[in-house]
Amino acid sequence: MMMLDWTRRAACLDLDPELFFPISMEGPSQSQVERAKHVCGGCPVREPCLEYALTTRQAYGVWGGTDPAQRRELVSRHDREAEPARHSPAA
Ligand code: SF4
Repeated sequence: MMMLDWTRRAACLDLDPELFFPISMEGPSQSQVERAKHVCGGCPVREPCLEYALTTRQAYGVWGGTDPAQRRELVSRHDREAEPARHSPAA
């Protein structure tokens, strides 16, 4: 499988993937999510990781320090901001 270049420097490379992909994002799994986000906080490739997750619309897990709800919010905010430009009449 091809590895994206930035993933070689990922702080989570040798960690248990279950930490980043808990069964749920709520309840008892919430502390797991917070631990994963803490790892992301010190990760040197946090930006490309988040960019990748947003452009590929990753629906599960913690990516770039965000959970799925936070990414949905970022995507919808981005779409809202792009909306007027898309519909503005040509000058
Ligand atoms: S930002 Fe988080 S999920 Fe992304 S590579 Fe770094 S540690 Fe892993």
